[in-house]
Amino acid sequence: MSNFSSQFSRRKFLLTAGASAVGSVLLKGCLGNSPSASDMSADAEAIELSPEQVPETTSIKLGYIPIVEATPLVIAQEKGFFKRYGMTDVEVSKQANWASARDKVTLGSQGGGIDGGQWQMPMPHLISEGIITNGQKVPMYVLAQLNTHGNGIAIADIHQGQGLSMDLSGAAEYIKSFPANEGRKFKAAHTFPNVNQDFWIRYWFAAGGIDPDTDIDLLAVPPAETVQGMRNGSMDAFSTGDPWPFRIIAEDIGFMAGLTSELWPYHPEEYLGIRADWVDKHPKATKALLKAIMEAQQWCDKPENRAEMVQIVSSPNYFNIPVAVLEPPYAGNYKMGDGKAEIEDLNMGPLYWTDPRGNVSYPYKSHDLWFLTETIRWGFHREQISDIDTAKQIIDRVNREDLWREAAREAGFSDIPTSTSRGLETFFDDKTFDPENPEAYLNSLAIKRV
Ligand code: CA
Repeated sequence: MSNFSSQFSRRKFLLTAGASAVGSVLLKGCLGNSPSASDMSADAEAIELSPEQVPETTSIKLGYIPIVEATPLVIAQEKGFFKRYGMTDVEVSKQANWASARDKVTLGSQGGGIDGGQWQMPMPHLISEGIITNGQKVPMYVLAQLNTHGNGIAIADIHQGQGLSMDLSGAAEYIKSFPANEGRKFKAAHTFPNVNQDFWIRYWFAAGGIDPDTDIDLLAVPPAETVQGMRNGSMDAFSTGDPWPFRIIAEDIGFMAGLTSELWPYHPEEYLGIRADWVDKHPKATKALLKAIMEAQQWCDKPENRAEMVQIVSSPNYFNIPVAVLEPPYAGNYKMGDGKAEIEDLNMGPLYWTDPRGNVSYPYKSHDLWFLTETIRWGFHREQISDIDTAKQIIDRVNREDLWREAAREAGFSDIPTSTSRGLETFFDDKTFDPENPEAYLNSLAIKRV
């Protein structure tokens, strides 16, 4: 970040014109006219593109889910960063849920779907291999990470005082004895199987000595249904993301056992992934998109921009969530409930460009490897992803960190990582993942399906 302001003084100047236009449009929005993408970015000026940087196409359709992970896509659109790099016709398209996003990317925008967008991991790898698309292989590329943090594990209020915190070992017997005492298993939900939120809650249960496959019921349930279940006593835990944690506390639905920023500080979260056929046909447009998203990520991480950022994403066109609900998580403020201390630390909330481990946006292959190692750990897709070597081959096909580097270099961004590995990763229970030796990580885990 250090060189950012000096390198971008000219752009900063250009931004000023765009920013005042956004302000006036927001005011208009308050008076009843919804701001539209074209209104808000109308005044953002394009930079001069060299002939080799002129994109092959100006349009793409990118899907997103209205949660904090999508922020860089929304900001790239609304602050005019896509336009600045020549991508003047980007459509940022709200998806009903992860399954719908997956189905639409198999169609591509030509077929009425989307070309790519925001993904939990390892969805791009699973779609590429035809694993979650009924055997239809749709090769995809992972191009950037969108964010770190912003997720957590919520527990229904009826379990207050039972020791359900990040270290769950004190509550293991309480949870395991549910079938004998309650006539049903402890029930937990995520939003889509075999990806981030499933992995986070599985890691948490297993670290506490609870087998998520046998001791409890763990299943994919739509968020609204999960929250209703937490209210009426039929759902016990929810692996969720901002802004749900705020609502769960504010509406007395439950409390937070912990945040993913506690579980694995600066963990990989959601990613930009685009169909390989689109990227192969439009390499310059891909790099233009990447530069725009990187610039959006840098903008998002500036504390002075967060108020405007909340205004933009809260609008009916995007998240359609009140500003008051979005402000706390973006500031790293979390009420935890159940007697836990409130968290007030910007670094515990979602981060987009840099964190104390380095660059957030760069898609480390070592993080893809953790997701696929965890896939092997739980015996997901055993036939297609049988071992670490197979996982590495899939990653080499899907992860295009080389395009990220080219785009960052062309744009003159600093903070470009020197290795495709972030190195050793350490979890809250002191387990470590060494990307050089994933087998040692698997061997160190007590609860696994391998
Ligand atoms: Ca997430």
